[in-house]
Amino acid sequence: MARFPLPPGSTLGILGGGQLGRMLALAAARLGFDVAVLERDADSPAGRVAAHTLVGAYADPVALEQLAALASVVTYEFENVPAEAVLTLQRLGVDCAPGPEALAVAQDRVSEKQFLNASGVATVAFASADDADEAVAAATQMGAPLLMKTRREGYDGKGQRWVEHAAQAGEVFRALGSVPVILEAPADFVRELSIIAARGRDGATAVYPLAENHHEGGILRRSLAPARVSPALADEAERIAARILKGLDYVGVLGIELFEMRDGRLLVNEIAPRVHNTGHWTQDGCEVDQFEQHIRAVAGWPLGPTAAVARVEMLNLLGDEADAWARLAREPETRLHLYGKREAKPGRKMGHVNKLKAL
Ligand code: AMP
Repeated sequence: MARFPLPPGSTLGILGGGQLGRMLALAAARLGFDVAVLERDADSPAGRVAAHTLVGAYADPVALEQLAALASVVTYEFENVPAEAVLTLQRLGVDCAPGPEALAVAQDRVSEKQFLNASGVATVAFASADDADEAVAAATQMGAPLLMKTRREGYDGKGQRWVEHAAQAGEVFRALGSVPVILEAPADFVRELSIIAARGRDGATAVYPLAENHHEGGILRRSLAPARVSPALADEAERIAARILKGLDYVGVLGIELFEMRDGRLLVNEIAPRVHNTGHWTQDGCEVDQFEQHIRAVAGWPLGPTAAVARVEMLNLLGDEADAWARLAREPETRLHLYGKREAKPGRKMGHVNKLKAL
Protein backbone atom coordinates (compact mmCIF):
# COMPACT_ATOMS: atom_id res chain seq x y z
CA MET A 1 0.00 0.00 0.00
CA ALA A 2 1.14 3.54 -0.73
CA ARG A 3 2.55 5.69 2.07
CA PHE A 4 1.50 9.33 2.06
CA PRO A 5 2.59 11.93 1.19
CA LEU A 6 3.71 10.15 -1.95
CA PRO A 7 7.26 11.30 -2.77
CA PRO A 8 8.22 12.74 -6.17
CA GLY A 9 9.51 9.93 -8.38
CA SER A 10 6.47 7.77 -7.58
CA THR A 11 4.15 6.73 -10.39
CA LEU A 12 0.51 7.79 -10.51
CA GLY A 13 -1.98 5.86 -12.62
CA ILE A 14 -4.74 7.55 -14.60
CA LEU A 15 -7.66 5.65 -16.08
CA GLY A 16 -8.56 7.43 -19.30
CA GLY A 17 -6.43 9.15 -21.91
CA GLY A 18 -8.40 12.24 -22.93
CA GLN A 19 -7.65 15.92 -22.40
CA LEU A 20 -8.40 15.83 -18.68
CA GLY A 21 -5.91 12.98 -18.30
CA ARG A 22 -3.39 14.93 -20.35
CA MET A 23 -3.64 18.04 -18.18
CA LEU A 24 -3.50 15.89 -15.02
CA ALA A 25 -0.39 14.16 -16.36
CA LEU A 26 1.29 17.49 -17.13
CA ALA A 27 0.54 18.75 -13.61
CA ALA A 28 1.83 15.50 -12.10
CA ALA A 29 5.03 15.73 -14.12
CA ARG A 30 5.60 19.26 -12.84
CA LEU A 31 5.53 17.89 -9.28
CA GLY A 32 8.07 15.20 -10.15
CA PHE A 33 5.73 12.25 -10.61
CA ASP A 34 5.65 9.77 -13.47
CA VAL A 35 2.28 8.94 -14.93
CA ALA A 36 0.96 5.67 -16.32
CA VAL A 37 -2.17 6.02 -18.44
CA LEU A 38 -4.55 3.14 -19.11
CA GLU A 39 -6.50 3.83 -22.28
CA ARG A 40 -8.03 1.85 -25.16
CA ASP A 41 -6.38 4.01 -27.79
CA ALA A 42 -2.60 3.65 -28.18
CA ASP A 43 -2.31 7.27 -29.38
CA SER A 44 -4.23 9.32 -26.81
CA PRO A 45 -3.88 12.96 -25.70
CA ALA A 46 -2.78 11.84 -22.21
CA GLY A 47 -0.68 8.92 -23.37
CA ARG A 48 1.51 11.20 -25.45
CA VAL A 49 2.63 13.19 -22.39
CA ALA A 50 2.78 10.28 -19.91
CA ALA A 51 5.78 8.15 -18.98
CA HIS A 52 3.83 4.93 -19.64
CA THR A 53 0.76 4.06 -21.68
CA LEU A 54 -1.00 0.76 -21.13
CA VAL A 55 -3.38 -0.06 -23.93
CA GLY A 56 -6.53 -1.85 -22.91
CA ALA A 57 -10.11 -1.61 -21.70
CA TYR A 58 -10.57 -0.16 -18.22
CA ALA A 59 -11.72 -3.50 -16.88
CA ASP A 60 -9.05 -5.57 -18.68
CA PRO A 61 -7.52 -7.69 -15.88
CA VAL A 62 -4.10 -7.95 -17.55
CA ALA A 63 -3.86 -4.18 -18.11
CA LEU A 64 -5.01 -3.53 -14.53
CA GLU A 65 -2.30 -5.87 -13.23
CA GLN A 66 0.31 -4.00 -15.27
CA LEU A 67 -1.02 -0.71 -13.93
CA ALA A 68 -0.94 -2.01 -10.36
CA ALA A 69 2.70 -3.07 -10.84
CA LEU A 70 3.63 0.49 -11.87
CA ALA A 71 1.40 2.82 -9.86
CA SER A 72 1.00 3.39 -6.13
CA VAL A 73 -2.15 5.46 -6.56
CA VAL A 74 -4.70 5.41 -9.37
CA THR A 75 -7.12 8.18 -10.25
CA TYR A 76 -9.45 8.79 -13.20
CA GLU A 77 -10.25 11.44 -15.72
CA PHE A 78 -13.90 10.50 -16.11
CA GLU A 79 -16.67 9.17 -13.91
CA ASN A 80 -17.83 6.16 -15.86
CA VAL A 81 -14.96 3.94 -14.81
CA PRO A 82 -16.40 0.44 -14.26
CA ALA A 83 -16.69 -0.29 -10.54
CA GLU A 84 -15.02 -3.67 -11.10
CA ALA A 85 -11.86 -1.94 -12.37
CA VAL A 86 -11.54 0.03 -9.14
CA LEU A 87 -12.27 -3.04 -7.00
CA THR A 88 -9.67 -5.06 -8.94
CA LEU A 89 -7.05 -2.35 -8.41
CA GLN A 90 -7.86 -2.19 -4.71
CA ARG A 91 -7.53 -5.98 -4.46
CA LEU A 92 -4.11 -5.64 -6.08
CA GLY A 93 -3.10 -3.26 -3.29
CA VAL A 94 -3.45 0.01 -5.22
CA ASP A 95 -4.97 3.01 -3.55
CA CYS A 96 -7.77 4.49 -5.71
CA ALA A 97 -8.88 8.09 -5.30
CA PRO A 98 -11.63 9.14 -5.34
CA GLY A 99 -12.98 5.90 -3.86
CA PRO A 100 -15.55 3.54 -5.38
CA GLU A 101 -18.41 4.92 -3.27
CA ALA A 102 -18.00 8.42 -4.71
CA LEU A 103 -17.88 6.97 -8.23
CA ALA A 104 -21.00 4.86 -7.65
CA VAL A 105 -22.96 7.91 -6.45
CA ALA A 106 -21.88 10.08 -9.37
CA GLN A 107 -22.47 7.38 -12.01
CA ASP A 108 -26.19 7.18 -11.41
CA ARG A 109 -28.31 10.34 -11.57
CA VAL A 110 -30.86 8.89 -9.15
CA SER A 111 -28.32 7.82 -6.49
CA GLU A 112 -26.65 11.19 -6.95
CA LYS A 113 -29.82 13.16 -6.22
CA GLN A 114 -30.77 10.83 -3.34
CA PHE A 115 -27.31 11.33 -1.82
CA LEU A 116 -27.52 15.11 -2.28
CA ASN A 117 -30.97 15.41 -0.72
CA ALA A 118 -29.95 13.14 2.19
CA SER A 119 -26.93 15.43 2.73
CA GLY A 120 -29.18 18.48 2.97
CA VAL A 121 -28.37 19.71 -0.55
CA ALA A 122 -31.32 20.80 -2.72
CA THR A 123 -31.96 19.53 -6.26
CA VAL A 124 -34.92 19.71 -8.63
CA ALA A 125 -37.80 17.32 -7.85
CA PHE A 126 -37.27 13.99 -9.60
CA ALA A 127 -38.63 10.48 -10.11
CA SER A 128 -37.13 7.36 -11.61
CA ALA A 129 -38.64 4.98 -14.16
CA ASP A 130 -37.50 1.58 -15.39
CA ASP A 131 -40.06 1.06 -18.14
CA ALA A 132 -42.35 3.07 -20.42
CA ASP A 133 -45.44 2.63 -18.20
CA GLU A 134 -43.55 3.85 -15.14
CA ALA A 135 -42.29 6.81 -17.17
CA VAL A 136 -45.86 7.81 -18.13
CA ALA A 137 -47.08 7.32 -14.54
CA ALA A 138 -44.23 9.44 -13.14
CA ALA A 139 -44.74 12.16 -15.75
CA THR A 140 -48.49 12.22 -15.04
CA GLN A 141 -47.86 12.55 -11.33
CA MET A 142 -45.16 15.23 -11.62
CA GLY A 143 -46.74 17.12 -14.52
CA ALA A 144 -45.03 18.12 -17.80
CA PRO A 145 -42.80 19.64 -19.02
CA LEU A 146 -40.09 17.41 -17.62
CA LEU A 147 -36.56 16.56 -18.62
CA MET A 148 -35.98 12.82 -19.04
CA LYS A 149 -32.37 11.66 -18.77
CA THR A 150 -30.79 8.23 -18.81
CA ARG A 151 -29.74 7.37 -15.25
CA ARG A 152 -26.26 6.44 -16.44
CA GLU A 153 -23.68 7.54 -18.98
CA GLY A 154 -25.12 10.80 -20.27
CA TYR A 155 -22.70 13.63 -20.96
CA ASP A 156 -22.62 16.94 -22.83
CA GLY A 157 -26.42 16.91 -23.07
CA LYS A 158 -26.49 13.42 -24.64
CA GLY A 159 -29.05 10.94 -23.31
CA GLN A 160 -31.66 13.54 -22.37
CA ARG A 161 -34.88 14.84 -23.89
CA TRP A 162 -37.73 17.07 -22.89
CA VAL A 163 -41.16 15.55 -22.31
CA GLU A 164 -43.72 18.19 -23.28
CA HIS A 165 -46.85 16.20 -22.34
CA ALA A 166 -47.10 13.34 -19.86
CA ALA A 167 -48.61 11.06 -22.54
CA GLN A 168 -45.40 11.44 -24.57
CA ALA A 169 -43.22 9.99 -21.81
CA GLY A 170 -43.38 6.40 -23.11
CA GLU A 171 -42.22 7.49 -26.55
CA VAL A 172 -39.37 9.56 -25.09
CA PHE A 173 -38.40 6.63 -22.86
CA ARG A 174 -38.06 4.43 -25.97
CA ALA A 175 -36.20 7.16 -27.87
CA LEU A 176 -33.61 7.21 -25.05
CA GLY A 177 -33.03 3.49 -25.58
CA SER A 178 -35.52 1.93 -23.11
CA VAL A 179 -33.00 2.10 -20.27
CA PRO A 180 -33.63 3.25 -16.67
CA VAL A 181 -34.25 6.99 -16.59
CA ILE A 182 -34.71 9.91 -14.25
CA LEU A 183 -37.46 12.49 -14.80
CA GLU A 184 -36.53 15.95 -13.60
CA ALA A 185 -38.71 18.98 -12.97
CA PRO A 186 -37.55 21.97 -15.04
CA ALA A 187 -35.18 24.24 -13.15
CA ASP A 188 -36.22 27.88 -13.46
CA PHE A 189 -32.67 29.12 -13.37
CA VAL A 190 -31.24 32.54 -14.16
CA ARG A 191 -27.66 31.31 -14.44
CA GLU A 192 -25.64 28.13 -14.43
CA LEU A 193 -22.74 28.24 -12.02
CA SER A 194 -20.19 25.70 -10.89
CA ILE A 195 -17.84 25.31 -8.01
CA ILE A 196 -14.66 23.27 -8.14
CA ALA A 197 -13.89 21.79 -4.75
CA ALA A 198 -11.07 19.65 -3.39
CA ARG A 199 -10.50 17.46 -0.34
CA GLY A 200 -7.16 16.11 0.77
CA ARG A 201 -6.35 12.79 2.45
CA ASP A 202 -6.26 14.63 5.78
CA GLY A 203 -9.84 15.87 5.29
CA ALA A 204 -8.76 19.46 4.56
CA THR A 205 -10.92 21.14 1.93
CA ALA A 206 -10.44 23.99 -0.53
CA VAL A 207 -12.82 25.58 -3.02
CA TYR A 208 -12.27 27.83 -5.99
CA PRO A 209 -14.29 30.95 -6.75
CA LEU A 210 -17.53 30.20 -8.62
CA ALA A 211 -17.63 30.10 -12.41
CA GLU A 212 -20.58 31.19 -14.57
CA ASN A 213 -21.14 28.75 -17.42
CA HIS A 214 -22.80 29.00 -20.81
CA HIS A 215 -23.71 25.91 -22.83
CA GLU A 216 -24.63 25.54 -26.50
CA GLY A 217 -26.29 22.39 -27.73
CA GLY A 218 -25.52 20.71 -24.40
CA ILE A 219 -21.78 21.43 -24.66
CA LEU A 220 -19.95 23.93 -22.48
CA ARG A 221 -19.06 26.92 -24.64
CA ARG A 222 -17.75 29.49 -22.20
CA SER A 223 -17.03 30.05 -18.50
CA LEU A 224 -16.56 33.41 -16.81
CA ALA A 225 -14.74 33.36 -13.49
CA PRO A 226 -14.68 34.43 -10.78
CA ALA A 227 -18.44 34.82 -11.34
CA ARG A 228 -19.94 38.01 -9.99
CA VAL A 229 -21.98 36.72 -7.06
CA SER A 230 -23.04 38.03 -3.68
CA PRO A 231 -20.98 36.94 -0.65
CA ALA A 232 -24.09 35.10 0.62
CA LEU A 233 -24.33 33.05 -2.59
CA ALA A 234 -20.60 32.26 -2.49
CA ASP A 235 -20.98 31.11 1.14
CA GLU A 236 -23.94 28.93 0.24
CA ALA A 237 -21.97 27.30 -2.62
CA GLU A 238 -19.10 26.61 -0.21
CA ARG A 239 -21.47 25.04 2.29
CA ILE A 240 -22.88 22.81 -0.44
CA ALA A 241 -19.38 21.78 -1.52
CA ALA A 242 -18.33 21.01 2.06
CA ARG A 243 -21.35 18.75 2.61
CA ILE A 244 -20.74 16.84 -0.60
CA LEU A 245 -17.00 16.37 -0.02
CA LYS A 246 -17.52 15.17 3.55
CA GLY A 247 -20.54 13.02 2.70
CA LEU A 248 -18.55 11.15 0.05
CA ASP A 249 -15.39 10.99 2.22
CA TYR A 250 -13.90 12.39 -0.96
CA VAL A 251 -10.24 12.61 -1.96
CA GLY A 252 -9.40 14.72 -5.02
CA VAL A 253 -11.05 17.46 -7.05
CA LEU A 254 -14.79 17.44 -7.66
CA GLY A 255 -16.88 19.60 -10.01
CA ILE A 256 -20.32 20.68 -8.82
CA GLU A 257 -22.76 22.12 -11.37
CA LEU A 258 -25.31 24.49 -9.88
CA PHE A 259 -28.47 26.25 -10.95
CA GLU A 260 -28.92 29.75 -9.58
CA MET A 261 -32.70 29.86 -9.37
CA ARG A 262 -34.89 32.85 -10.03
CA ASP A 263 -35.87 32.81 -6.33
CA GLY A 264 -32.19 33.01 -5.31
CA ARG A 265 -31.76 29.38 -4.21
CA LEU A 266 -28.86 27.26 -5.38
CA LEU A 267 -29.71 23.76 -6.60
CA VAL A 268 -27.15 21.14 -7.55
CA ASN A 269 -27.61 19.83 -11.09
CA GLU A 270 -24.85 17.24 -11.00
CA ILE A 271 -21.49 16.38 -9.55
CA ALA A 272 -18.47 15.11 -11.44
CA PRO A 273 -15.91 13.17 -9.39
CA ARG A 274 -12.97 14.56 -11.34
CA VAL A 275 -11.42 17.71 -12.67
CA HIS A 276 -14.00 19.60 -14.68
CA ASN A 277 -14.23 21.62 -17.89
CA THR A 278 -15.67 24.56 -15.93
CA GLY A 279 -12.46 24.55 -13.85
CA HIS A 280 -10.08 25.07 -16.77
CA TRP A 281 -10.02 28.80 -16.02
CA THR A 282 -8.03 28.01 -12.84
CA GLN A 283 -4.99 27.14 -15.00
CA ASP A 284 -4.37 30.81 -15.68
CA GLY A 285 -6.68 32.43 -13.14
CA CYS A 286 -5.69 30.88 -9.80
CA GLU A 287 -2.67 30.38 -7.64
CA VAL A 288 -2.79 26.57 -7.88
CA ASP A 289 -4.97 25.12 -10.63
CA GLN A 290 -7.49 22.27 -10.43
CA PHE A 291 -5.11 19.78 -12.07
CA GLU A 292 -2.24 20.33 -9.62
CA GLN A 293 -4.80 20.39 -6.81
CA HIS A 294 -6.12 16.97 -7.79
CA ILE A 295 -2.61 15.53 -7.97
CA ARG A 296 -1.77 17.06 -4.59
CA ALA A 297 -4.92 15.58 -3.05
CA VAL A 298 -4.53 12.04 -4.38
CA ALA A 299 -0.80 12.03 -3.56
CA GLY A 300 -1.56 13.02 0.03
CA TRP A 301 0.15 16.39 -0.30
CA PRO A 302 -1.24 19.53 1.31
CA LEU A 303 -3.84 21.31 -0.83
CA GLY A 304 -2.66 24.49 -2.52
CA PRO A 305 -4.17 27.98 -2.36
CA THR A 306 -7.18 28.58 -4.60
CA ALA A 307 -7.46 32.37 -4.72
CA ALA A 308 -8.01 34.02 -8.09
CA VAL A 309 -5.14 36.05 -9.53
CA ALA A 310 -7.01 37.11 -12.67
CA ARG A 311 -10.51 37.19 -14.12
CA VAL A 312 -10.79 34.66 -16.94
CA GLU A 313 -13.07 34.00 -19.86
CA MET A 314 -12.58 30.36 -20.81
CA LEU A 315 -13.69 29.39 -24.30
CA ASN A 316 -13.75 25.81 -25.51
CA LEU A 317 -12.30 25.30 -28.98
CA LEU A 318 -14.68 22.89 -30.66
CA GLY A 319 -14.05 21.09 -33.93
CA ASP A 320 -12.12 23.20 -36.42
CA GLU A 321 -12.06 26.26 -34.11
CA ALA A 322 -8.65 25.09 -32.91
CA ASP A 323 -7.34 25.75 -36.44
CA ALA A 324 -7.22 29.42 -35.38
CA TRP A 325 -4.26 28.63 -33.10
CA ALA A 326 -1.85 30.93 -34.94
CA ARG A 327 -4.16 33.93 -34.54
CA LEU A 328 -4.91 33.06 -30.92
CA ALA A 329 -1.19 32.69 -30.18
CA ARG A 330 -0.72 36.34 -31.23
CA GLU A 331 -3.18 37.67 -28.64
CA PRO A 332 -1.22 38.74 -25.55
CA GLU A 333 -4.15 38.17 -23.15
CA THR A 334 -4.91 34.68 -24.47
CA ARG A 335 -3.47 31.46 -23.01
CA LEU A 336 -3.81 28.58 -25.43
CA HIS A 337 -4.32 24.99 -24.31
CA LEU A 338 -4.43 22.38 -27.09
CA TYR A 339 -5.12 18.71 -26.52
CA GLY A 340 -3.13 17.17 -29.37
CA LYS A 341 -6.15 15.36 -30.81
CA ARG A 342 -5.41 14.13 -34.31
CA GLU A 343 -8.86 14.63 -35.80
CA ALA A 344 -11.26 17.57 -35.44
CA LYS A 345 -14.85 16.31 -35.52
CA PRO A 346 -17.73 18.81 -35.20
CA GLY A 347 -18.35 19.59 -31.53
CA ARG A 348 -15.23 17.70 -30.39
CA LYS A 349 -13.27 19.47 -27.67
CA MET A 350 -9.89 20.17 -29.31
CA GLY A 351 -8.58 22.73 -26.85
CA HIS A 352 -9.53 25.83 -24.92
CA VAL A 353 -8.33 29.36 -24.38
CA ASN A 354 -8.22 31.33 -21.18
CA LYS A 355 -8.57 35.04 -21.91
CA LEU A 356 -7.18 37.05 -19.03
CA LYS A 357 -8.71 40.24 -17.68
CA ALA A 358 -7.88 42.32 -14.66
CA LEU A 359 -9.50 41.09 -11.43
P1 AMP B 1 -26.62 17.66 -17.46
O1 AMP B 1 -26.22 16.63 -18.44
O2 AMP B 1 -27.46 17.13 -16.34
O3 AMP B 1 -25.45 18.47 -16.96
O4 AMP B 1 -27.52 18.71 -18.24
C1 AMP B 1 -27.01 19.46 -19.33
C2 AMP B 1 -27.67 20.83 -19.39
O5 AMP B 1 -29.10 20.69 -19.52
C3 AMP B 1 -27.49 21.64 -18.10
O6 AMP B 1 -26.27 22.33 -18.11
C4 AMP B 1 -28.70 22.57 -18.19
O7 AMP B 1 -28.45 23.63 -19.10
C5 AMP B 1 -29.77 21.70 -18.76
N1 AMP B 1 -30.54 21.05 -17.69
C6 AMP B 1 -30.22 19.90 -17.05
N2 AMP B 1 -31.13 19.56 -16.13
C7 AMP B 1 -32.09 20.52 -16.18
C8 AMP B 1 -33.32 20.73 -15.49
N3 AMP B 1 -33.78 19.88 -14.56
N4 AMP B 1 -34.03 21.83 -15.83
C9 AMP B 1 -33.61 22.70 -16.78
N5 AMP B 1 -32.48 22.54 -17.46
C10 AMP B 1 -31.72 21.47 -17.19
